[in-house]
Amino acid sequence: MTSVDETIEQFVNCATDLARQVNSGQLPLKAFLKSKLPDYYAHLDKAISAFNLTSSPPIACNDECGACCRTLVAISPMEALNIWFQLRSHFSSNEVDVFRQGIMDRLIIQQDIIKKHLGDFQNQAREFTLMKIPCEFQKSNYSCSIYEFRPFICRSHNVVSPPDICLDTEHPERALIWRHPTLWKFDMTFQTFFSKFYFNMEGQDTMEHLLLKFENFNTDLKIVA
Ligand code: SF4
Repeated sequence: MTSVDETIEQFVNCATDLARQVNSGQLPLKAFLKSKLPDYYAHLDKAISAFNLTSSPPIACNDECGACCRTLVAISPMEALNIWFQLRSHFSSNEVDVFRQGIMDRLIIQQDIIKKHLGDFQNQAREFTLMKIPCEFQKSNYSCSIYEFRPFICRSHNVVSPPDICLDTEHPERALIWRHPTLWKFDMTFQTFFSKFYFNMEGQDTMEHLLLKFENFNTDLKIVA
């Protein structure tokens, strides 16, 4: 068995075990976010790294790019809740206020574009990308303020096309994404299950929209559904 297969198997086992714990009603939401989700992300990162090492052509992303942080970022309710939970334990209330302002600024622009291209995600994403508005968590050196608890899409979004065409929405080779289908599928399945179980919700939405929705959610709740 190759190391990619092993890391993927470990990730799948971790997710299956977590789903079982959630399903049994034994796992309060706060405990999940505090001690289980970091494990889940660690297994996921390991599997993504092992997979990326096998890439041919090699992964082209570099630390000085951050182009994907200037596009529409889709996350799940589970991830939105986790971001708030972690923001409050890692940052001061003043810092959280600055992030909140960034969320609002990006959301207002998104809402105009979404209205303009109602139901047409491709054109919404295209127009938003052309505006090159950085994510509220992107620092001036292009690193991520919430790197430890960034969502799945930010962990798995690696390209094999040249980074300098990532923001060129008309380029035929723009952002050829390299992502393992099992990891992608399994993560989406788990996130859907989790969101449905705790919030009776499913699906993804833009990061800013879901962050606003979950800002005041009470993580002390045991089960919502
Ligand atoms: S959360 Fe971090 S990695 Fe993801 S888009 Fe924002 S700055 Fe980039």
